[in-house]
Amino acid sequence: MSDRDTIVALATAAGGAVAIVRVSGSDAERCASLVWQGRTACPEGEESRCNGPRCTHGSPEPGEPASGGIRMENSRHRALASAPARTLVLGSVPGVDGEVLAVRMPGPGSFTGEDVVELQCHGGTLVARRILGCLLEAGCRHAEPGEFTKRAFLNGRIDLTQAEAVADLVGAHSESALRLANRQLDGLLGRRVRAMREALHGLLCEMEVRLDFPEEDLDWRSEEEVLGTVREACALMDQLIASRREGEILRHGVSVAIVGPPNVGKSSLLNAILGRDRAIVTEIPGTTRDTLEEFAHIRGIPVRLTDTAGIREPGDRIERSGIERSHEAARNAQLVLWVGEATRPESVESIDLPEFEVPLLKVANKADLLSEGIASSLGEGVVLLSALTGEGLDELYDAIERAVWEFPHARESDVAVNARHAALLEEARGELNEVETLVAREEWELGAICLRASIDAIGRVTGDTIAPDVLDNIFSEFCIGK
Ligand code: GDP
Repeated sequence: MSDRDTIVALATAAGGAVAIVRVSGSDAERCASLVWQGRTACPEGEESRCNGPRCTHGSPEPGEPASGGIRMENSRHRALASAPARTLVLGSVPGVDGEVLAVRMPGPGSFTGEDVVELQCHGGTLVARRILGCLLEAGCRHAEPGEFTKRAFLNGRIDLTQAEAVADLVGAHSESALRLANRQLDGLLGRRVRAMREALHGLLCEMEVRLDFPEEDLDWRSEEEVLGTVREACALMDQLIASRREGEILRHGVSVAIVGPPNVGKSSLLNAILGRDRAIVTEIPGTTRDTLEEFAHIRGIPVRLTDTAGIREPGDRIERSGIERSHEAARNAQLVLWVGEATRPESVESIDLPEFEVPLLKVANKADLLSEGIASSLGEGVVLLSALTGEGLDELYDAIERAVWEFPHARESDVAVNARHAALLEEARGELNEVETLVAREEWELGAICLRASIDAIGRVTGDTIAPDVLDNIFSEFCIGK
């Protein structure tokens, strides 16, 4: 397997109306020409005739097989090669039902930087699989997960943060996650990181020249100026590292566990948030015996909600295991909603959970059954609501939003790093701390070593300096066809 092979994959998910087969590599046009035949290879001025079902332009010559996959005959190569770049051309693949549109995107201006051809056919796996099979026979090989994006990176079309944004874009569960991925794909994070790296690199060059020619009295930056550049980079790094939480939340969502005694309305609350009846709601306590996970958006935050079995003295073995799972769900969550009944304030206040360090919001449900006197006996910070009428849900969303962001989140950040970026930036930041101390002591030689290490770590964020096995790791997370 080599990075020079011509690769092919289905670029669309199953179930769509249209399927796209993507080919990339130096042989892309030749392979696609063997499989696909155009109908628009006609004399100028006759194009309009050529798109109809009766069109004979580009159809098999007399004596040629009408079907059978690959055509080794040469005359069709021209059909694709002469098609205008980045323009859909009508045609077909012998042996495959229906029309197949082709578009050729010559390198180096294509997404991967190589010659790319995409064939669009009717959706449904069969047709596309047939075309894929023909292309494999023509000499392509199956693309590995993320291989198209990896090639785009290796050919310098995008940096590593942009490559990661492609995966984020596919996995985005919310509008804000999508916006974030788009900005990253646009190169915003990469540009910011690279500018910081360049500033530090300029400093390193100067420090090294200073070491090589100590006797020269050139116009060196003062110690204060050096420290200023280092501190500026530190501040930017701190800002980026702090955006990790937001990045993680937007990329992966927040896990919220709904726990509490039986029959207080946990399943009803899940249904009310989802806006549909997902969980079974009954007046019989102990009916939810297992956890149930659903996905929702609360104020633009992707949320994984887990409804759990009611917590009480277990009646049988099945209930005990359900309750153990409730404890586990609470422990693993990023936020716990402890639900009790507004008419029984003690059910809201006496939290029957093992000790753990997860933020918890107290919810008093069934507010519709409440008389005013009882409402005032609820403790501070308790969210009063009715899953039945929907009253108080907005207050719950406010409280969840506050708990998730830990501060009023008026404006979303323009960039937000992921765990990999944050780890590298922390490493780079640690080295810069050393640089600060060493420069202050005028230990230029050691300072330069730490500065180089810092620059190297920053370079790994954008992929300017990175080991091949790390790259393989990153791209293996992608889906095939991307
Ligand atoms: P869970 O066992 O905690 O999941 O509770 P359920 O959601 O199954 O609800 C238990 C009972 O309480 C059902 O009969 C629900 O209709 C009722 N219930 C749930 N929420 C409310 C509410 O806000 N108001 C009233 N009046 N009844 C509710």
